[in-house]
Amino acid sequence: MTTMIQLKLFVFSPFQVNTFVLYDETGEAVVVDPGCFDPREDLELVHFLNDNKLKPVLLVNTHTHIDHILGNNFVCQKFGLKPVIHRAGLPFLKNAGQYGGIYGLKIPDMILPERFLDHGDLISFGKSSMRVLYTPGHADGSLCFHSQEQLFALTGDAIFFESIGRTDLPTGNYQTLIRSIRDHILTLDDETWLYPGHGHETTVKHEKAHNPFLNGFE
Ligand SMILES: [Zn+2]
Ligand SMILES: [Zn+2]
Repeated sequence: MTTMIQLKLFVFSPFQVNTFVLYDETGEAVVVDPGCFDPREDLELVHFLNDNKLKPVLLVNTHTHIDHILGNNFVCQKFGLKPVIHRAGLPFLKNAGQYGGIYGLKIPDMILPERFLDHGDLISFGKSSMRVLYTPGHADGSLCFHSQEQLFALTGDAIFFESIGRTDLPTGNYQTLIRSIRDHILTLDDETWLYPGHGHETTVKHEKAHNPFLNGFE
């Protein structure tokens, strides 16, 4: 029997961030960008995991903007994990209190990673694995997670349905983002489903045809 990654989406916090739980038939799970913001959202995540008898073995962040890390400490403490990120995203995590303050949020000291990911690495859980792509431009340290077998990728805030991530925040760079998308996302199979950090899913094929920021890259 071939293994099959299942994907569960939550939309959390006033930032409406997409939080994903990936899991397979072994019950091992990865939590991607836990954005749970209050006890109700924490419980929603935990209930889903419990109801499906899932055990998170990994917490990864597509990048470390405040909306994508709001639930990091909760998930880490609940399941005995440390976040796993790209090293270039470390300053955002260390300065989360300061960034949160911009939005009027009181953010505690964030639990820091002991392990880092880079382009070409694999993340593994159960019998499954996904390939790590480094796609900076929206923010330093931005990663995508790609399944070649099942033709889908979690793309963080690099690309959205018919749009792209903003590049006006610290470490954002428009040219870098366009290059990341062109080199590492549009080169995926046309039928690949893209699950962004906000909003609904799309495909490589659809973005090649309809994304106004990517004209001429086909
Ligand atoms: Zn972001
Ligand atoms: Zn975001």
